Amino acid sequence: MRPFELTAPATVEDALASPGTFLAGGTTVVDLMKLNVLTPHQVVDINELPLRGVDTSDGLRIGALERMSAVAAHPGVYPAISRALLLSASQQLRNMASIGGNLLQRTRCTYFRDVAMPCNKRQPGSGCAAISGANRMHAVLGTSDKCVATHASDLAVALVALDAEVRLAGSTGSRTVRLADFYRVPGETPEVENDLRPGELITEVVVPRLDWASRSTYVKVRDRQSYEFALCSAAVALDIQDSHVVDTRIAVGGVATMPWRLPAVEEALRGAPATLESFEAAASVAGEGARPLAANGYKVSLLKRTIVRALLELTEGSR
Ligand code: SF4
Repeated sequence: MRPFELTAPATVEDALASPGTFLAGGTTVVDLMKLNVLTPHQVVDINELPLRGVDTSDGLRIGALERMSAVAAHPGVYPAISRALLLSASQQLRNMASIGGNLLQRTRCTYFRDVAMPCNKRQPGSGCAAISGANRMHAVLGTSDKCVATHASDLAVALVALDAEVRLAGSTGSRTVRLADFYRVPGETPEVENDLRPGELITEVVVPRLDWASRSTYVKVRDRQSYEFALCSAAVALDIQDSHVVDTRIAVGGVATMPWRLPAVEEALRGAPATLESFEAAASVAGEGARPLAANGYKVSLLKRTIVRALLELTEGSR
């Protein structure tokens, strides 16, 4: 790790006036600094900022510095969100990692973390080692010939499904962005991963009230049952009446370059009977546009099966 200057402002205003890399839980930034993937000269510790708390009085509001474990344990948090958090990382990491940092975590592509390898995301124009390399874990949706890395956050998948917004503060003021519009597919510029402007900070996550989101879940398929990233995941909320789907929200992770909402699957489900057959028919369109690589074609069928599994879980006893 290279030497750096550390400051620790106490107010959001002072933090926004401090040039440097923001540090919250440190579970991504410190990792990448140790690997020399990030080499900031100035680090701004934001842990003293008043950006904590969980408010469930009308929808859900989460301070950006609230820890993952605290949000997961809050009784008013929608099940899809708490499950996504509890299936992430380890208890120790969840005790440290912040909600804002979770949404900004970098990809786990091994080539991104290895400074000896070409990687367009880390060093634009250097190439992508994954496209012809070990790509079993990589994305099949939203890829480009510049980058095929998956987005690593479980939480972001659940939040995109539930139409969450992020509040951002910058030196010229604050703004609110739908999380689904916040992330970027790699295209020609994989180093640009989101809509965050230089010096901006996530201050809060807001999830609109959705009464039927109490019937929601997050299913995560991975190589081992603990401390592992998703091969595929699905966040699903479902409104069921008289054994028919009235409405639904679905997003998937582990298969795409950003948290991936599936409006075509949602549309296919609205009005359909809550049966295995209609779930499979709706999920069959989930992989449209997929571009498998040499070793990750299995994700196209896994994607469909993961969605069906989440739907079956949510309708057990009402089919
Ligand atoms: Fe880098 Fe993206 Fe290629 Fe991985 S997939 S090596 S992050 S450019």
